[in-house]
Amino acid sequence: MNKLKKNIIWIPIATAIFSVIALAYISFWSKANYNKQYSNFLEDITNNKISKVIVNNSSDLTILLKDGTKYSTTNPNSPNLKEDLLKNDIEVLDTNTFNPPKTIASSILLVSIISAVFIFINKRKLGTSSITNLDVKDFSEDNDALNFNSVAGNEEAKESLMDIVDFLKNPQKYKDYGARMPKGVILYGSPGTGKTLLAKAVAGEAKVPFYALSGSDFVQVYVGVGAARIRNLFKKAKSQGKAVIFIDEIDAIGKKRGGSSASSGNDERDQTLNALLTEMSGFGEKEGIVVIAATNRLDTLDSALLRPGRFDRHIEVSLPDISAREKIISLHLENKPHYNLDLKDIAKKTAYFSGAKLENLINEAAIIAAKENSSLLTQEHINKAYSIVLAGYEKKERGHYLEEDKLLTSYHEAGHALISLLKTPQDKVSKITIIPTTKGAGGYTLTIPKDSSYQRLDYLKNRIMVLLGGRAAEEIIFGQDKISTGAQGDLSQTTEISMSMIAEYGMGKTLGLLKLSSLGSLSNSYGNPVVEECRELVNSLYKETVNLLTENKGKLTQIAEKLIEEETLDEKEIYDIFNEKI
Ligand code: ADP
Ligand code: ZN
Repeated sequence: MNKLKKNIIWIPIATAIFSVIALAYISFWSKANYNKQYSNFLEDITNNKISKVIVNNSSDLTILLKDGTKYSTTNPNSPNLKEDLLKNDIEVLDTNTFNPPKTIASSILLVSIISAVFIFINKRKLGTSSITNLDVKDFSEDNDALNFNSVAGNEEAKESLMDIVDFLKNPQKYKDYGARMPKGVILYGSPGTGKTLLAKAVAGEAKVPFYALSGSDFVQVYVGVGAARIRNLFKKAKSQGKAVIFIDEIDAIGKKRGGSSASSGNDERDQTLNALLTEMSGFGEKEGIVVIAATNRLDTLDSALLRPGRFDRHIEVSLPDISAREKIISLHLENKPHYNLDLKDIAKKTAYFSGAKLENLINEAAIIAAKENSSLLTQEHINKAYSIVLAGYEKKERGHYLEEDKLLTSYHEAGHALISLLKTPQDKVSKITIIPTTKGAGGYTLTIPKDSSYQRLDYLKNRIMVLLGGRAAEEIIFGQDKISTGAQGDLSQTTEISMSMIAEYGMGKTLGLLKLSSLGSLSNSYGNPVVEECRELVNSLYKETVNLLTENKGKLTQIAEKLIEEETLDEKEIYDIFNEKI
């Protein structure tokens, strides 16, 4: 880019120099050394001594002889003069039509315009964006300061990314083992959870250049431009040998294609996406280039992007739980003098805050402290900032909602977990959290099923009970009128399992050992009775679930309370509570 700039800057300079020389040349030739009679001039014409005549706007003519001498003579202002001269093979330079003062003015104007245009183009090239040269943010020099210590929480994501760092540091090692490292990684999760930060940290840890651009840079540009930008970006990265390329908002170019209606309007996006995929398949594994893309929703991405050899590693970056929030808060307080802050309390009050929102909270508090000329940041500043950050909601009301959501989700998840612990003890409950995922659930309970190639009837019934455990807990604790929409996903799964049992696996009474899907046109007549049988099955399992939870209400409450406090429980904590005598 610098080279280009240097080359372009010469164009106006050269134009200016050229114009000045041309003007000097003209005025030099218009100045004669001495004067001659007009008759002598006519003689010179007849003697064929003259090479050139300059007609000034003044009353004089300037005559240049073939021997190089120059003189002036009176201009007869005869209309035929020019013609006569030309007939005698004498060159005529008529400066009347040339008009020096105007010429100078217009040349200056011309030069200025040319310069301005070039400076403008130049500025744009170096600045935000030109047509194909996108401003690729290159952090190769300043990202050394960023590493995984700059990212608090997100331990699972960091661990997963550690492999990528190692690969970037030593691609040959992986090649020697014949291992295929991912070329593309997708970080997905709510906005502000630190996806960009993680990508920068990967580059920082591996000490390779970091190139970033956003998918939204490709929206509404001319067809072909986005693809060219992608190629430029990769060219730039490849010239560095190793690099991390970060594409934020990948969904802007990689969204699932809509139905048949999606047509020419998406040409640009398709071309850009294809260019990206082509570039990604274009570099070899040993090259040490990793593309990290970020999106809020993984499920909206085109499956072409997610295939092996493309973005085949998907890492969730979730909202921080209470202990992660405490770490993030303390990280952002590091460079701010503070006094007697109750970090645990701040973390507790900020459920569902993203890392970015926490950073914002601390920053607001620091601004308030600075405004008050307070030497230290105190709890009071944090409290004031808290109301500012939550502005738009009545503070109390919002706080109230947060608490209520947490309470509901805690019991719901505790219900799932407890039923799983009681009814499917072979499946490990490895994590319970009330921190929402981007998939829309308010929280989730992660169970790792025992490996098995088939599932038995009693297990399927127990699975349904685990799925119903969330809703059942809500009903037991909050009452029938207070059940929530939180069980939506659970109910889809319940319906699918029970339907398969009766219609496909030969586990029901209505069809016996017949498969509904094999009945062809006759399947319609069995539709309603099958649904009826499913409903009865699920209802009776639900009653059983409610009974079981009621019997174990103490345990349910114990798990839920621990969840409210810690927001996330790992396997050990879960089993400790479960096995603890009440
Ligand atoms: P995303 O790319 O997921 O939208 P960013 O990485 O841009 O989020 O995060 C924005 C800012 O929020 C970061 O620059 C950082 O200050 C803060 N932040 C977010 N998550 C974390 C975290 N886990 N640890 C520390 N700071 C964080
Ligand atoms: Zn649930």
